Amino acid sequence: MLIMMNAQATEEEVANVMAHVRDRGYQPIELPGADRLAIGVLGSNPSTIRDAVAALPGVVAAIPVSKPYKLVGREWHPQSSVVDVAGVRIGAGELVVAAGPCAVESERQLVDTAEHVKAAGAQLLRGGAYKPRSSPYSFRGLGAPGLEHLRRAREMTGLPVVTEVLTPADVAAVAGAADMLQVGTRNAQNFSLLEAVGESGKPVLLKRGLSNTVEEWLLSAEYVLAHGNPDVVLCERGIRTFETATRNTLDLAAVPVAKELSHLPVIVDPSHATGHRHLVPSMALAAVAAGADGLLIEVHPTPDEALSDGPQSLTFEQFSSLMDDVRRLSAALRHQIVVVPSHASR
Ligand code: PEP
Ligand code: MN
Repeated sequence: MLIMMNAQATEEEVANVMAHVRDRGYQPIELPGADRLAIGVLGSNPSTIRDAVAALPGVVAAIPVSKPYKLVGREWHPQSSVVDVAGVRIGAGELVVAAGPCAVESERQLVDTAEHVKAAGAQLLRGGAYKPRSSPYSFRGLGAPGLEHLRRAREMTGLPVVTEVLTPADVAAVAGAADMLQVGTRNAQNFSLLEAVGESGKPVLLKRGLSNTVEEWLLSAEYVLAHGNPDVVLCERGIRTFETATRNTLDLAAVPVAKELSHLPVIVDPSHATGHRHLVPSMALAAVAAGADGLLIEVHPTPDEALSDGPQSLTFEQFSSLMDDVRRLSAALRHQIVVVPSHASR
């Protein structure tokens, strides 16, 4: 429910409405607008107090909110959000590219990749120290030493780091090394993890769950915001369908849909969506055309030797060439994009 206050409502009237809502077991949130204050009401079935609230002094109307998510929706928060990741602003009009290996394998592999993707124009470094793998016998990441390599790569290149966290117990350690926490597709409805990253104080990259509707994805984001963290970036990474020609089915329409329903930035991961490196560039460009605020791309110095997701990882040369195309397309679409000279390094 959204309580619209009169433009001339006094502080006392606002305080009275807040107290009334709280006393009945709901959580009121002040939502300042251009010319009047609104109060959002969080909790189960707030319509039971609607008539009583509408009759309070200073209240113009108490309007039911149609969507089950509140904090992430545009009904409460019409203006688009910008998420700042250690100075890299996602959702501010410039396309932001996060790139790096699927898994951190060694300091050398990570630093070489970080230097290359930075020179090619990426603004964030990605790489998993903790890997969620379908098989327990696959490489599941280096763990704590992987976090050390991420720290080192950031120190050497200045690129902020995004890396996945798998369990609530790991959040503090991963947040100590990362500038942004990734919640992966397999954990997109792990509600205790969502609560823990909500309390972490770090921006969160939330992948869409393997079989999640857009509404379920937004409700997962709602968990993070409801636990005090407004800095969530949504990531479409393909969903599970009957099709086997690609690893997943990239749902590009979900980009404008999610952006219409939510004020959060939306980025696209064509690497996990397609599973095949020759499909990544075209789908990356399609994502830019669909209005994505950024891209997540897997890159490896020697993809055929990668310990995870080699078939979908781009070589350095392929990544550079993709970035040239992304820059040209962004310019044609009048997106702003930071142009980093190709000789730039640490
Ligand atoms: C990853 O980014 O390497 C990853 C495991 O992603 P997803 O959760 O989308 O499969
Ligand atoms: Mn991967």
